[in-house]
Amino acid sequence: MLPHAGNPSPEGISLPRSANGDPAAHGPALRVAVLGSTGSIGTSTLDVVASSGGRFAAWLLAAHRSVGPLIEQAHRLRPAWVVVVDAAAAAQIGVGALPAGTRLAVGADALDELVADPAVDRVVSAIVGAAGLRSTWAAVEAGKTVALANKETLVMAGPLVMRLACRTGATILPVDSEHSAIHQALCAGRPAEVRRIVLTASGGPFRTRPQAALASVTPAEALRHPTWSMGPKITVDSATMMNKALELIEARWLFDVPAEKLAVLVHPQSIVHSLVEFIDGSVIAQLSPPDMRLPIQYALTYPARTAGPARRLDFTQAMTLEFEPPDLGRFPAVALGHAAAARGGTAGAVLNAANEEAVGGFLAGRLRFIDIAETCGRLLDEHPFEAEPTLEAILRLDAWARQEVRSCLSS
Ligand code: NAD
Ligand code: MG
Repeated sequence: MLPHAGNPSPEGISLPRSANGDPAAHGPALRVAVLGSTGSIGTSTLDVVASSGGRFAAWLLAAHRSVGPLIEQAHRLRPAWVVVVDAAAAAQIGVGALPAGTRLAVGADALDELVADPAVDRVVSAIVGAAGLRSTWAAVEAGKTVALANKETLVMAGPLVMRLACRTGATILPVDSEHSAIHQALCAGRPAEVRRIVLTASGGPFRTRPQAALASVTPAEALRHPTWSMGPKITVDSATMMNKALELIEARWLFDVPAEKLAVLVHPQSIVHSLVEFIDGSVIAQLSPPDMRLPIQYALTYPARTAGPARRLDFTQAMTLEFEPPDLGRFPAVALGHAAAARGGTAGAVLNAANEEAVGGFLAGRLRFIDIAETCGRLLDEHPFEAEPTLEAILRLDAWARQEVRSCLSS
């Protein structure tokens, strides 16, 4: 059953207003833990925090090994903690490099522990890939409000994570622009009135490229996205349209919607971020320029809305919005996403792990672009499927799929 995204609660609507009409930052700032703060979503999150007029404060910043940018962020935002997951990288942080009042923690265990700290009011889950699952799990287990960018968490373990959130009272709010749009559009009706959820896709840099030319695509070409500026992994996922496959699975679990009610529509301008069609034929969409600061802020302030740093649509300029069905022949990843969303169980985890390894192989020049989806499809078919896996089974199959791809890369 589709949950009702819910209309803003009365207390959300009646937030105290400052003189210029923006909701004022009353009371102490909400303390935000930003997991993956040096990445594309992480840096956009820090923009939102810095422009929040004291409504939010960075309490924890975490990254894998990019210590230079992390130290710079720490001086700018003065968090209580920085966490470096890679111990060798953390060892490069000299005495006195961090500002007074900011402490350093090292390793994934430390991150899991700090995320659950009672001081944390909001968690932004923006680590890339399967590596984001464990800290997101720790946040959900601790009953936090989680702004979820790391779609891989739901792709791998959607049912387990959503059940855990039910048990602990955690709230998971989407950061992915499509899911943020769906969350907003669902407010226009009741769950039983939803006929279809349509995720839009830019179509990536190869939307119009003939099939025969896709075999020779280079990493540099795949990394040139026409509308979004993002980290390298999701940029390649957009080029193969595997990103839409992962997002179909993400939507399946986040909104508890059956796979057959999910559809994909190519929209090259990336302005309509997704649509919800109701049983009476009305289609409700959310529009804004391609700027992740808006869905990040929406997830942080929900159910309130505040003015923020995101770009706005300019209706004084002529604008054309185009829509076309995806070409499933040239982009077979979309069908893999539909199949994995329908199948559930371990399918999402295997698809995700195979894709992460295949994208790594493609970026290293060891796999052709068109082999990414082919490899993922083969492993989906071959894997020992489990319908109701435990977290351990999911992690075991994640490791199995990675090993399979690696051995095919080295053969
Ligand atoms: P990115 O590559 O720009 O940044 C990744 C961040 O994760 C970095 O801070 C890195 O240090 C950290 N990280 C990587 N491995 C880690 C590990 N093992 N432990 C701890 N930290 C680790 O990625 P991104 O584009 O910001 O994407 C982040 C997540 O958000 C992904 O799941 C992606 O699918 C999702 N997302 C991104 C966008 C976007 O516009 N970039 C949009 C929607 C969803
Ligand atoms: Mg998206």
